[in-house]
Amino acid sequence: MGARDLHHRLQAAGLHVEADAAGLIVGPAALLSDEHRADIREHRAELLRLVLDPDPRVRCLNCRHHRPLAFRCANHRRAGLMGQDIAPDLAALLQSCPGHAPRAAPCGPWARTSAATGPTTR
Ligand code: SF4
Repeated sequence: MGARDLHHRLQAAGLHVEADAAGLIVGPAALLSDEHRADIREHRAELLRLVLDPDPRVRCLNCRHHRPLAFRCANHRRAGLMGQDIAPDLAALLQSCPGHAPRAAPCGPWARTSAATGPTTR
């Protein structure tokens, strides 16, 4: 289950998911099960990214296959690229990529809050 599936499941359970400067906010707390909490903990970084940037496109800069010092993609075949090279300016652009795998924590100016922040409830 990915963050998008989890987001849909939480919404279907009557929960709302949003983010503020402190991190994820999922509520109302009375509807949160232990399973919800475990799933949120497991997918916290992806869920936070999804809530902050609901656009399904991704950035190489937030992909664990991106090698910024070498300007390369370590998963270029799965990504559908002919070669490994990724120009630095392209790494920041939103794109659809089948090879993308999120980093443990988002980076860049669009990562407005810390992914290390746990879910909070209202
Ligand atoms: S797998 Fe896709 S998103 Fe990840 S670095 Fe390669 S091209 Fe970029």
